[in-house]
Amino acid sequence: MEELKNPKAKLSIEVSESDFEKEEVMEPTRREFLKLCAASAAGLGISQLYIPQVLRALERAAVSNPPVIWIQGAGDNGCLVSLLNTTHPTIAEVLFKIISLQYNPTIMAGAGKMAISHLDTVSEKTKGNFILVVEGAIPTKDGGIYCTIGQKNGKHITMLEAVKDLGPKAKAIIALGACATHGGIPAGKPNPTGAKGVRDVLGKAAPIINIPGCPAHPDWFVGTLVHLLMYGLPELDDQARPKMFFADSIHQNCPNYSYYMEGQFASKFGEKGCLIQLGCKGPMTYSDCPLRRWNSGVEWCIGAGAPCIGCCSLGFPDEVSPFYVSLPKELWPEKQTELA
Ligand code: SF4
Repeated sequence: MEELKNPKAKLSIEVSESDFEKEEVMEPTRREFLKLCAASAAGLGISQLYIPQVLRALERAAVSNPPVIWIQGAGDNGCLVSLLNTTHPTIAEVLFKIISLQYNPTIMAGAGKMAISHLDTVSEKTKGNFILVVEGAIPTKDGGIYCTIGQKNGKHITMLEAVKDLGPKAKAIIALGACATHGGIPAGKPNPTGAKGVRDVLGKAAPIINIPGCPAHPDWFVGTLVHLLMYGLPELDDQARPKMFFADSIHQNCPNYSYYMEGQFASKFGEKGCLIQLGCKGPMTYSDCPLRRWNSGVEWCIGAGAPCIGCCSLGFPDEVSPFYVSLPKELWPEKQTELA
């Protein structure tokens, strides 16, 4: 396992399946796994989770394919689309090698009565064992009638009812994306539907993992899921976010950091320099976007010349608005250089 301590080195070594048939496969320790996740944050991609050791361990952990029930509330399905676009691993690998997706209204074949009946059956049969993924906010005003997920016995099932019913039966709950973590855009002022996040509905005691972002990065979801399967609940911060992905601010790892320190600020888009005067919310936003980047590690917002709009902040969008206006100077990080 020594080579796993240096994932970059590991990636340069060709390891065939037959090599592992000859010898006993050792599972990475949790510590090694976290290093893999962190190393993928150095631009190598979560594909490292698919080196043979991890893959075999995963297949063992997933012998009974832990069921996943994925419900969708007020949102735009962006987090699911983000996950479907994952290339390393592919969505097929996630669905067929790691989990058994039992319910997802967007991609499952079943619909209507049949789908709702399956949801009931699976959630009862696998009570205490399934992972519940919640995507989208939960409208709570007027009994939650502004978002329904189906019907039973001629009555609407609201997203609010679904979360309250399924949440306590789940082994763990992943609130995926800004809408599910804290309400996101549907909860933006004036929040006419009373949209809330999962924690606001079920309470802090529920086993909730918050994966923010608009959308959430596929690596954050897959890495969290793998951690859950292999080692249990990942270490979370006080906002229930996995520390392995959300410990540092965008600002700390930003390639424009030296511009910030030197006081070189872009005054218009396309100009070289730190984007803080153009409204960058990187100093108050925590995620590994600068290292992991998006679209299979190709690019990310600041890399493309756009200020961070703070979509991973658990107050997005209201607390990071207006997007393209500079943070008040008292909120600029320490060691700031005076404006020219
Ligand atoms: S303010 Fe934004 S652009 Fe400037 S260094 Fe920080 S994160 Fe990067």
